This record gives sequence, C-alpha cells and structure tokens, in this order.
Amino acid sequence: MAVLSDKIGELDAVAKKLSKKLEKIGIETIYDLIFYYPFRYEKYDSVSLIAELVPGQEAVVIGKVELLASRRSSRQRKYLVEAMISDESGSIKAIWFNQPWLAKTLKAGDVIMVYGRVSGETFSPYFSSPNYERPRKNGSAPGILPVYPLTAGITSRQISSLAALAISRYSDAIDDPLPAYILKNNDLPDLIWAIRQIHFPEKSENIVLARRRLAFDELFLLQLWSQLARRELKRSQAPQIKFNEQKIKEFVNSLAFDLTLDQKRAAWEVIQDMGKGEPMNRLLEGDVGSGKTAVAVLAMYNNALSGWQTALMAPTEILASQHYQTISKLLGNSGLNVGLFTRNQKTINGESVSKKDFLARCADGGLDIAIGTHALIYDGIEFNRLALVIIDEQHRFGVKQRQRLKEKTSLVPHFLSLTATPIPRTMALIAYGDLDISLLRQMPQGRLPIITKVVSPQQRSLAYDFIGKQIAAGRQVFVICPLINPSDKLGVRSVNEEYKKLDKEVFPNLSVGLLHGRLKSEEKEAVMAGFVRGEIKILVSTSVIEVGVDVPNASVMMIEGSERFGLAQLHQFRGRVGRGKYQSYCFLFSDASDEKANSRLDFLAKSSDGFRLAEYDLSVRGGGSFYGTEQSGFDSGLKLADINDIDLVKKSSEAVKSFLETNNPDDFPGLSGRLKQKELISHLE
Ligand code: ADP
Ligand code: MG
Repeated sequence: MAVLSDKIGELDAVAKKLSKKLEKIGIETIYDLIFYYPFRYEKYDSVSLIAELVPGQEAVVIGKVELLASRRSSRQRKYLVEAMISDESGSIKAIWFNQPWLAKTLKAGDVIMVYGRVSGETFSPYFSSPNYERPRKNGSAPGILPVYPLTAGITSRQISSLAALAISRYSDAIDDPLPAYILKNNDLPDLIWAIRQIHFPEKSENIVLARRRLAFDELFLLQLWSQLARRELKRSQAPQIKFNEQKIKEFVNSLAFDLTLDQKRAAWEVIQDMGKGEPMNRLLEGDVGSGKTAVAVLAMYNNALSGWQTALMAPTEILASQHYQTISKLLGNSGLNVGLFTRNQKTINGESVSKKDFLARCADGGLDIAIGTHALIYDGIEFNRLALVIIDEQHRFGVKQRQRLKEKTSLVPHFLSLTATPIPRTMALIAYGDLDISLLRQMPQGRLPIITKVVSPQQRSLAYDFIGKQIAAGRQVFVICPLINPSDKLGVRSVNEEYKKLDKEVFPNLSVGLLHGRLKSEEKEAVMAGFVRGEIKILVSTSVIEVGVDVPNASVMMIEGSERFGLAQLHQFRGRVGRGKYQSYCFLFSDASDEKANSRLDFLAKSSDGFRLAEYDLSVRGGGSFYGTEQSGFDSGLKLADINDIDLVKKSSEAVKSFLETNNPDDFPGLSGRLKQKELISHLE
C-alpha cells in the first residue's frame, strides 16, 4: 500500500536518480516532498512581444528558432547551446549551459515558448537558461510557477514535476489531520486542495489561502502536541525530592558571589517542581553569562542530598569537560562523587577510570553526578536512582529519551533544559507549551558591556592592528567564519582561507589555531585545550565554537560574513568574550551591501539584551526563517507559520483548546498519524 513514508526513490526513475541530491535538501520520503514548499513564485501570466522585453523582468515569449549553435566555452569549460528566437516584433538570444541534449531536441524552424528572467543590458537583453516548451494549443502562458529552495544539480522544475507525480499517486494516502468542524469554523480549505495550490497555484489568491491553511496546521499540531506531552507527563510519577534547606543555604553562602535575584527565583522554581512527585519539565533560559550553571548546581546538589543521582548532558566534549571542571570545583567540599563520561574520557573525582568501572558506579548509585555528552544515553548507561536529567543547549527531551536513561525504579526523572537561545514569549507559548520556563534576565553584577562595532572592508587593517595590540597586552582572539572551505559562488570567507591568511601573512609571529566540525574530535579537543591554556592566541573557527566555551582571557570576537548569521547566533558568539575582567570587543565584518542586513547588524551593535534581539529578528525575518535548525539550534518545526500572525495564532490555539475538551486525537487517524510523526522527529533531534 502506498504510504507517505515511502522513500522518494519509489516514485520513479528520475526520483531514484536524484535521491542523493534530494536528501541534501531534506527530502527523503514522499511526505517530505509533498510538504516541501516553494519559497516564491514566478508569474508568467501572458505572452510578451520580444521587442518589449526589459532585463530583470520575468517574461514569456513565443517565437521561431532561427539559428541554433552549440559549442564548448573555452574559459568556463561549459557546453553552451545558443539559439536566436524571433517573433513579429524582433529577436532575442537564448543561452543554455550544460544541456547538450538541447542541440538535438531543438531545431531551426521550431516554434517554441520560452520563459524566464530576462538577463543582459537594456539594449542587449537575452535569456540565460530559460525554460522552454512547445506552445500550448490555445496560445496561453505557463501561469504561476513555483520556485523551491534548491541544491546544486536540481531545478525547481524537477521538484515541481516530482511533486505533481507524488500528489497524484499518493492523494489517497494524504489524510487531513484537521477535523471537518475546525476547517469550517476557521474558513479553511481542505488539505489536498491546499497542497495542490501551494505547488501549482491557479491564481495568486489561492496561494494565500493555501499557505494560511498549511500554516494553521503547523500551529495546531505543535500546540496540540505540546499539550498532550504535558498531559502525559502529569500522569507519570517522579521521585519526590525534598528541599534540604539548611545545606542549600550553607552552600549558597559558600559561593564566591551573591546569586542574582533571578538565579534565586529560578532555583526556587526548580526545587519546588522537584518536590511535587510529578516530573518537572522546565526550561531555564538565560543569556550567555547569566549564570545558569549555578542554578543547575543547586538543583543537583539538592537532589544528591536526598540520595538521588543527576545526569548532565552537553552537546560537545569540550563543553562536557568544562562543566565537569566547574561543577567539581563548586561542589569540591560537599563530599559528592562527580564523574565525566565522554567518548575519550572517563573520570570520577579527578581520577581516570575504566568504562566498566564508570558504568558500575552509575548502576550501584555510588556516582552522584554523571556529566557527559549524549554518549551518556546512547552507551546504555544504567542508573540506580536517577531523579534529575539536565541538558545544556538542547530543548526537548521526550518521555522515550528519558526512558533510555535506564534506572531501576519505575519513576520518570525530572528534566531541566538550559538554554541561551532567547525564545520570545509568543514562540515559547506555541512551540514549548509543554515546558515551564524560568528566566534569567539579569546579568551578574560587575560585567563590562562588550563594545560591538560593524566594520567596513576599508577598516579591516585597523581592526587587525587593534587585535595585534590586544594580543600584545596578553589577550586572546576568536575569529568566526561562516564556511569551512572557500565557496566558488558566494565569495564568503572560509575558515581554511582565513586561517592561512592570518597565520602566514597577518600574524606570522603568533600562534593561530583552526577549529571546525570536520576535524576529528581529538584534534578539536587539542586545539581547544591549547586555546584554553592561552598557548593559541587566535582561534579561527566555524560556528562549532558557538555553545558554551568559557575562556575568560579572550577579549575580541571577530565575525566574518556576519550578515549570514541570525542575530541570536551572533549574540551567542559575542557571549564568548567579556567573560573575564577585561574590556571586550565584538567586530562584525560584513560584505553585504543590502540595507536590511546591515540594519540588523546595527541593531546588534546597539543592544546587548538577547531577548530584545530575538524579538527584533523575529519581527524582521519571521518565525520560519529565523528559527531554522542550523541558525539557532532551535527547531520550532514551523515552516510557513509566522508567529507574528496574531490572528492565526489565536485561532489555532483556541481550536486546540476546544478540541481537547471534547475529543481524543486517537479517534482522528489523520491527526494521530501526524502526532506520531512529530513524536518520532522530536526524539531524533
Ligand atoms: P551561562 O548562563 O552562560 O551558562 P555560566 O553559568 O557559565 O553562564 O556563568 C558565567 C560566569 O559567571 C561563571 O564564571 C560563573 O561563575 C559566574 N557567575 C554566575 N553567577 C554569578 C553571580 N551571581 N555573580 C557573579 N558571577 C556569577
Ligand atoms: Mg553555560
């Protein structure tokens, strides 16, 4: 039976041939294809006369092929097919690159319809790789055509024709998740209509309606899913951890600093939650440097005082071992056993242990706090009395994931997620309705604000001089680039190039380090360790540096191609400096000439409040784009829905509420299917 989870290769030979490339843009199944939306449309409503064509315009012409020639271009080593096409008003050249078969399919004298964006100058327009087909019988134009986000080697046309095939072949398998009464109450079209219209709109108004329908689905499903997750958790039992008031107070007094009011409040909320006997599901949100670790430590200390274990997971080995250092130091006099478990390191209380010993100490409950990467889950560690799971920089942790952290009691552990990604309130309500949120909006006292400047290409050498002086004064510097390798198309700076340039030309006498995601983890560790020890003065890195690394001696963060990052991410980078007592600086290099990009950067230069930045970016760029997975490590699952669309947000949340009052999602096959899928995806995150 045809189901939407069928692999794309089953569609036809073309799909099979393209499947590797389709995978690159996230299309593996029929479902992925059908729900892969165009991001814009080209309108070919009517046929133009060739003499009237203006460069830049999207146009359709019908004309006769007068001349046809093919050749290999000497410089670009590309195969070119050129045609001269004419109608009664004039003629225009069309060039196709690397489509040698055209020389055989087209011949002089053919009448064809050609459409695309007109290239060239006012007096010498031409078509560059336009679409072409035989003219239609009634002489009509192609209409509205979808343009999809692409990767090399795939065209919108290919995706569009595969989508058409998938929709017709699988239309019976597409179940509408929304009950009919919800559609009716909200004036929404049915699903299959919306899918057809978003890929193949008959008229512009239909696109609006189709998008509205599909956006409604996203909002509805997300909210329904989180409400159900909340319900499910409330039904399960967790260890009840009492507040060990005396010891906690002593501990707080022993700290080298006073907790901020926000830290106290957050710690209190966590301790309250854990005393209840139902699993805590809480997000601790605070800007970089706001002191989330201290709150987490209070929670794990209180937990350990009652004889329960804590697992703390971080996204990278570097971060896990930094947490281990900090936490061991803070809890140094407490008599607790603290361990680190990563692929390369197994340590308990500062001593190396074998994997077997580590596992044994977890299983017999002797280890109070286990800190590690996600290896903690996937290596099948078993705990004796696990009551608290803390995750740094990952937002969700489903019931199934909790179950992977095996323990001998049948209780579900409490969950606390730490994040520096500021999630605007509206977004939190929709996408994170299953989580309670504690906020650290205050920064600890005595931090010097970081001086942020947008640097023009002309000022680059001044910036290098400045960096040289900082390093001479003993400081260290981060340089972030968007890419690993030079990209031919974009002219965007890459770490490999920048590293070479800084190491060989600009600062030949200084030690420069290179860090990116394709290095082996030992190599990464070594570079990072060299930077932490102060041996490496300049660290050139991709965004892998983003999360959590703490080097108080670093005072300059230099970001290349900064217009390519989201504000939340730039703000995270910036948070890597200003962690010590030195005045720190963030330089934003930008090659963008477009005003919108630069005004975003100016906003970043002016504001140091992560929440304001997130809200600003959300208002400028909309929900779907800003909260893409890579941009911020924060996946809302929203592709079309814009959470600034108050009307739709309100309607969808009312629909969820009334639906849950009287219905069980299991009675709606389309709906429960989608919920299961969401469940699966969020567990694979
Ligand atoms: P983040 O929220 O980014 O994880 P950390 O927990 O790493 O921040 O804290 C950043 C730094 O601030 C650490 O060096 C920590 O010791 C220090 N810190 C935490 N809370 C306070 C406080 N209330 N007053 C002063 N310094 C603090
Ligand atoms: Mg942190």
